Amino acid sequence: MNTELFINGEFINTREKQRIINPATKETLAEVSLASEKEITLAIASSRAAFDKGDWPKISQEERKKFILKIAQGILDRAAELANLETLNTGKPIKESTFMDIPSAAKTFEYIADNFQKYLQEEPIDIPGQAKCKLIREPMGVVALIIPWNYPLLIASWKLASALAAGNTVILKPSSLTPLTALELGKIIHAAGLPKGAVNVINASGEKSGRIICSDKRVDMVSFTGSNAAGQKIIEYSSGWVKKLIMELGGKSASIVLKDADLETAVNSSLCSVFLNQGQMCTAMSRIFVEDDIYDEFLANFVQKTKRIKLGRGLDHETQMGPLISEAQLKKVTDYVEKAKKQGAKIACGGRAPYSPALKNGFFFEPTVLTEVLPGMSVFQEEIFGPVVCINKFSTPEQAIDLTNSTDFGLAACIWSKDKKSAEDLAQKINCGTVWINTYGMFYNEAPYGGFKQSGFG
Ligand code: NAD
Repeated sequence: MNTELFINGEFINTREKQRIINPATKETLAEVSLASEKEITLAIASSRAAFDKGDWPKISQEERKKFILKIAQGILDRAAELANLETLNTGKPIKESTFMDIPSAAKTFEYIADNFQKYLQEEPIDIPGQAKCKLIREPMGVVALIIPWNYPLLIASWKLASALAAGNTVILKPSSLTPLTALELGKIIHAAGLPKGAVNVINASGEKSGRIICSDKRVDMVSFTGSNAAGQKIIEYSSGWVKKLIMELGGKSASIVLKDADLETAVNSSLCSVFLNQGQMCTAMSRIFVEDDIYDEFLANFVQKTKRIKLGRGLDHETQMGPLISEAQLKKVTDYVEKAKKQGAKIACGGRAPYSPALKNGFFFEPTVLTEVLPGMSVFQEEIFGPVVCINKFSTPEQAIDLTNSTDFGLAACIWSKDKKSAEDLAQKINCGTVWINTYGMFYNEAPYGGFKQSGFG
């Protein structure tokens, strides 16, 4: 695997290294180069020169399209290898990497390659009088892409494909917990023959690289996905140069299950919406509100199926849920559950690390269902980012909407009901970027995606 940074078209081995571990076993996967201030600054200079003097922004859209398709093909050619690497580094089940993360990453490059030209077309603007007016879309310049550890290659692809298609040059900074597939992407981009400096990939500490990149005048825009704490820092560092920002931040999403819902489908999909990727999803439905007539039946069914979820190492094909990403994440999730217990919440299942000797070395936490959670509790209000769900009752749809909207976040929600018209009316009242009705988690390259309130903008 590639353990080197990709800067100005070359692979760079640094003296300082970072140990990358498998969260299922704590075994070392790689010693990866870690960018110091010198390499971070080199990447900025390279991107700037590639934008101001290089070919990437100048080549025709048709040529750019060919390069982007080559990247998609490069991902597909190595799909199995990349899926293995993603699973080893993040702990997620191999089925998820194989059928979701990696093909969706390739698909994103393909979709953007096939469609970007229509978004970049000049548009005439009707104005009164004799003068003519038109809208011209231009690249921003140097764009820094800072991404989290939960979907490393996929989120990198979402940002990279469109930034490149528009003619920007980019600095890609993966999470330093999960840089392996992003570094491989550097190799794929190199093999695809993009001009030097069009893409730089650096593994670096978030705090240090964030400060250097965001406060540097030569970087025009920052597209960030991650926590609110880091997002606030990025806004602060970028304010000196009034940079354009995209902030994809946290969530505290909710499902509303109405009494006329198809209960079996609602339960099965809700399991996925809560426990996929160990609950480490910005759109995890970490709160489920069930109409009181069907609450007991829903809860019993949900808990029974949650207890059957098989924990294990990601590469084991039987595994349905892997470990959390790190010791810190395990502690955070454990602390939230312990605090909820002290505040009076009840544990319907899970609530602790599993006893299994086979799992003792990894950062595993049992899938957990909490009941009797009050809206003022931190498990109800704050993003846990782990396999923990609160299941509450409601009596009227208005009450469910109030509960759903009662947090500082506004990323996504689900409504389960056979009455599509009422479900759509309810959806209008939910303050968040995406509302799924009778489904969960479908993301489309064709559709916009983003949040309200503290979940970000852009
Ligand atoms: P994080 O904020 O710790 O890290 C995200 C990225 O920011 C990493 O590359 C990290 O190195 C970097 N970083 C950390 N501190 C920084 C700082 N001070 N300045 C600049 N960069 C810094 O987030 P995480 O733990 O990797 O990911 C989990 C978070 O991401 C959750 O809050 C989740 O909701 C959010 N997320 C949001 C979306 C979305 O689309 N809204 C998608 C996935 C994840």
